[in-house]
Amino acid sequence: MTVQDRTLHNFNILGFQQDLLSWYEANKRDLPWRKDQDPYKVWVSEIMLQQTKVDTVIPYFHNFLEKFPTVYDLAAAEEQEVLKAWEGLGYYSRARNLQHAVREVVEQYNGQVPDNPKDLEQLKGIGSYTKGAILSIAFNKPVPAVDGNVMRVFSRLLNIDDDIAQQKTKKLFEQIIHEVISHEDPSSFNQAIMDLGATVCTPKSPSCLFCPVQEHCQAFALGIEDQLPVKAKAKKNKTISYHVLQIRNENGEVAIEKRSKDGLLANLWQFPMIPVKELNGSPVEEWFYNQYGLRIKMGKKQGQLKHVFSHITWELEVHPAQLIVEDGTNHSLCFVPVEELSSYPFPVSHQKMMQYL
Ligand code: SF4
Repeated sequence: MTVQDRTLHNFNILGFQQDLLSWYEANKRDLPWRKDQDPYKVWVSEIMLQQTKVDTVIPYFHNFLEKFPTVYDLAAAEEQEVLKAWEGLGYYSRARNLQHAVREVVEQYNGQVPDNPKDLEQLKGIGSYTKGAILSIAFNKPVPAVDGNVMRVFSRLLNIDDDIAQQKTKKLFEQIIHEVISHEDPSSFNQAIMDLGATVCTPKSPSCLFCPVQEHCQAFALGIEDQLPVKAKAKKNKTISYHVLQIRNENGEVAIEKRSKDGLLANLWQFPMIPVKELNGSPVEEWFYNQYGLRIKMGKKQGQLKHVFSHITWELEVHPAQLIVEDGTNHSLCFVPVEELSSYPFPVSHQKMMQYL
């Protein structure tokens, strides 16, 4: 059974395109990366927008483009500078991959972002969605850009109840949009779907009465828009508890350390974190001495906070501590004056802890 047979047999593709595009022309959001079709800006914006809301992204986008206005500036920057500009946006591997890929664009493609799928998808951090967004928005090519928002809109329009958490469902939607996308103006088409999903066909309580494509929508006709899309529940989020130590030396400087170069929040800085589970009932000071070779005295809890990632949750208990004696071992901590902390990139949870210093 083809996609046409399965989902599009009664769908008025031309009428849908017209209704969508004329609505977009009159209502499109005024977004800074839409001022021109510069592929580098489109690329940066699409990477920032993954997992992050438009309103949050806008100031970061301005700041990032001010610091790194071209691929050459980003390619030449220190990774720590890039992470600092990304600080607070989360999912830091996005920033590292972006810089890695931009360096490749400078070295392999003379600084020109490739305008074809084959070269684009070789670049680090560019998946099928980002590839489609760059090719359609910047180069006006009729390539689908399918993410959760787009799947929600089309699940409803075409009454598709396949689980959107599955990769094969994403493929199905890519095939559908391949059929439906405007060949005259693919750039506006994909952005119009993004805008429709963000402002009208929202996850909860879609504004069907004001929807420009209501007459094409099967879920609306059946009154089932709130039952779509179907998405299987993600795996249970695991909670890990830590004591976080803000250790001062005799000069009042604070201990920080760089996280490992791989994995979660790689290469960002943090106050030392002690996994409560590893203590097995022994004192924090003892565990700390075994790990870092430093004698400290931990003070009373000053605060606690929680940080939820996509797959784990950190429960963090913040304690002050005083350095008592160093045994000369080469440990991984740096003691830094409090006023210099702001020049290091920290994850959001550790930025929040600065208030306890
Ligand atoms: Fe979404 Fe409602 Fe429009 Fe259908 S009619 S596309 S459910 S907003």
